[in-house]
Amino acid sequence: MKAPAKSSASSSRALSRAVAKKEEATALFALLEEHEHEQVSLVYEPSSGYRGIIAIHDTTLGPALGGTRFWNYASDRDALIDCLRLARGMTYKAAVAGLNLGGGKSVIIGDNKIRNREPIFRAHGRHVKALGGRYITAEDVGTSVSDMEFIKAETDHVTGLIGKSGDPSPVTAFGVYRGIKACARHHYGEDALKGKTVAIQGCGHVGYYLADLLYKEGAQLIATDIDAVKLKAVVDDFRAKPVGADEIYGVEANIFAPCALGGIINDETIPQLKVEIVAGGANNQLAEERHGDMLEEKGLTYAPDYVINAGGLVNVNAELEGWTMERARNKAGEIYDTILMVFEIAAEEGIPSYRAADRLAGKRIAAIAKVRQNFV
Ligand code: NAD
Repeated sequence: MKAPAKSSASSSRALSRAVAKKEEATALFALLEEHEHEQVSLVYEPSSGYRGIIAIHDTTLGPALGGTRFWNYASDRDALIDCLRLARGMTYKAAVAGLNLGGGKSVIIGDNKIRNREPIFRAHGRHVKALGGRYITAEDVGTSVSDMEFIKAETDHVTGLIGKSGDPSPVTAFGVYRGIKACARHHYGEDALKGKTVAIQGCGHVGYYLADLLYKEGAQLIATDIDAVKLKAVVDDFRAKPVGADEIYGVEANIFAPCALGGIINDETIPQLKVEIVAGGANNQLAEERHGDMLEEKGLTYAPDYVINAGGLVNVNAELEGWTMERARNKAGEIYDTILMVFEIAAEEGIPSYRAADRLAGKRIAAIAKVRQNFV
C-alpha cells in the first residue's frame, strides 16, 4: 500500500524538529568552546544505568583533577554546564595554589541515594581509566570514600581513598585562617586577629576547625548554623555568640567568613553587610561575578573563594605526591602570600580581587605553556 503523502504542515513540523536538534547539538559544542575545554567525554553504560560526563578543562600544568559529583540534574544540559563550570574552576584553583595539576570534573547523573552503588562506580572507574591518566577523580557532593574504593577497583586515577589523606577540612581551615590573616594585613596594615570579630556562617567541618584557630588567636566569634548541634559545639568550645541563620549577614563584625553554602554574596545580602572583610571557605560565594564588583564598590576586602579554600586540593595533592601532613599544611599556609599577590595585581591593574585571581591563574598557565612549547 502506498504511504499517505505527508501534509505540508507535518513536513514543516519535522523540518523544524530537525533544525532544533541540529541547533541543540551545535549549542553543546558552543558550550565547550565558551568554557574553552580540552575534552569532554560522555559515557552511557546500559546494564548499570550509568550516565557520566567527564570534563577536562586544561592540562597545561598536569593531569586534570576534580571530584565526582553524583546529582539528579533537571536536564542533561544542566549536568553538562555544571561539569564544565566546575572543571574550569579546578584549573584556576590548582594554578593559583602552585600545584602541578590541571582542572577537570565529572558528574554522574542520577539519584545519589541509590543503594546498589558498585556497578555505577565501577562503570565510572572504567570511564576514568579510558582517559589514560588525563583525569584523576576524588570525592565530591553525593559521593563518599567507599564509592572511591569501587572506582579504585578499575583505575589508579583516583584519590581520597580510605586510610590515605583523609578528611581535608583541617588543612582547608588552616589555609582559610592564613588567608584571613592576609586580608587583615591588607585591610588594617597588620595581620593580628586578636580582638577582631569574625562572623562564621556554617559550623561544619571547615567552620569548626576555623573557629578553633581564630579562637586560639584571641578573635571574638559570632556563629550560625541551621544544625543546632554543630552550632552548639562552636558556642561551647570557642565561646562564640550564636545568631540565627538569616541574622549572620547583618551582624556588627570585622570579618564575615562564609563556610556553608555558595551564592551567599548576592543582591539581598550585600546591603546588609557591616563588615570590612569577606573571607571564608565556602565554594562559589559570589552568586554572580558582578557581586564581586559590588563588594569592591562598597570598599570591602574580598578573598576570592578558590584561592583561600585551596587547602582541600593541597591535601589531595599531598596524597598523590606522598607528602607528609606537615608539608601539606605548610603548602596551604602559602595561601597567605597568594592572597596578598592577588590584592597586588588588583591594585596594579585597577580590577576587583576576583578578577585579579583569574589573571594570576592565567599568568601561571601561560608561562608554563611557553616553557613547555619547545621540543626536548
Ligand atoms: P559541612 O557540610 O561539614 O559543613 C557545612 C555546614 O553548613 C553544615 O554544618 C550545615 O548545617 C551548615 N549550613 C548549611 N546551610 C546553612 C545555612 N543556610 N546557614 C548556616 N549554616 C548552614 O561542609 P564543609 O566540608 O565544612 O564545607 C563547607 C564549605 O566549604 C562548602 O561550601 C564546601 O564546598 C567548601 N569547601 C570545603 C572543603 C573541605 O575541605 N571540606 C574544601 C574546599 C571548600
